[in-house]
Amino acid sequence: MNGPAQRSRVPVVSVGGKSKMRNALGLMLASVVAAVVIAGVWFWAFSPRPDVPSPSTASAAKAEPAHIAAAKPAAAPEAPVEITGSIQAAPAASSQKTGCANPDALGVSRVVEIDTTGGPGFGFEHFKQLDFLADKEVVLTFDDGPWPANTPAVLKALADQCTKGLFFSIGKHASYHPEILREVAAAGHTIGAHTWSHVNLNSKKMTDQQAKDEIEKGFSAVKLALGTAPAPFFRFPELQHRPSAVAYLGSRNIAMFSCDLDSFDFRKSSTPDKVVETVMTKLEKQGKGIILMHDFQKHTADALPTLLARLKAGGYKVVQIKAKAPVQTLPEYDEAMLKDVKVPVATTRPVSSVVQTVTQ
Ligand SMILES: [Zn+2]
Repeated sequence: MNGPAQRSRVPVVSVGGKSKMRNALGLMLASVVAAVVIAGVWFWAFSPRPDVPSPSTASAAKAEPAHIAAAKPAAAPEAPVEITGSIQAAPAASSQKTGCANPDALGVSRVVEIDTTGGPGFGFEHFKQLDFLADKEVVLTFDDGPWPANTPAVLKALADQCTKGLFFSIGKHASYHPEILREVAAAGHTIGAHTWSHVNLNSKKMTDQQAKDEIEKGFSAVKLALGTAPAPFFRFPELQHRPSAVAYLGSRNIAMFSCDLDSFDFRKSSTPDKVVETVMTKLEKQGKGIILMHDFQKHTADALPTLLARLKAGGYKVVQIKAKAPVQTLPEYDEAMLKDVKVPVATTRPVSSVVQTVTQ
């Protein structure tokens, strides 16, 4: 075999004025190498990749998963475009057509569509005006993904209960793991944005322009990863609401989501049992609410099957939230993201294929 050298790129046959025989042999060799590379890319694209290292349970703000990025196989620059499209289409079709296999599932009791004109705010921890949940109704929200292992585990737990959540993705993480974010979308969940790099927008060090950049880059990065615009739904990192950014989001017709009850799953002392108990105790007191969790966190991924079973047993009902229309990203940020994400990690998947596949 030709060794590992072909992983980085398809070798161009060098024609150095040697014999025709050698050129012919070189071309044959190149064909074989190209076939191996393409097969490898296909395998990489279709495999669930359970071998990716688990993330730490550290807070998202500090997570820099360079080790995971570095561990990714290098894709050929001319990877086939259609490979990612089929990944997204399959789960969506199967989950919607076959219905729910679990007769005792938590399910979705109703779907709410939100008109985000003017930037409404939800979640009683910060916004008191709009109360759309009835008693015993909950909304499942998940922040800081997409992330290997944990996000797929959350998706599986939700699928097992035939229920739906609302995911607030970090732009950077979306650029690292676009294929996982596409699985979230393919499973029928709603996706919003959670800034580009999870900085505290309310920090005194931030300027209004930097806050705007974080918001817009976040949405553009999520759009780039998905190949289609997400919902105009935003959650402030650490629930730190910068007043000028709230006004800005209003002007952009982007809804803001705080929460009604926090699972505190990000705390170092958290365990899956604690996540379940925290949520259930708060729910019993409040009767309903938007629940804040993190698909980035292993504790949430581990806790979710039990938590969903407890919600079902407690008579709680899941409300799914959708947007009336997708977010309108700003072209200058879309273009900037296209350039930016080429540099660090997302080169493992050609940006052009990411954009093309979902609009099929
Ligand atoms: Zn967060």
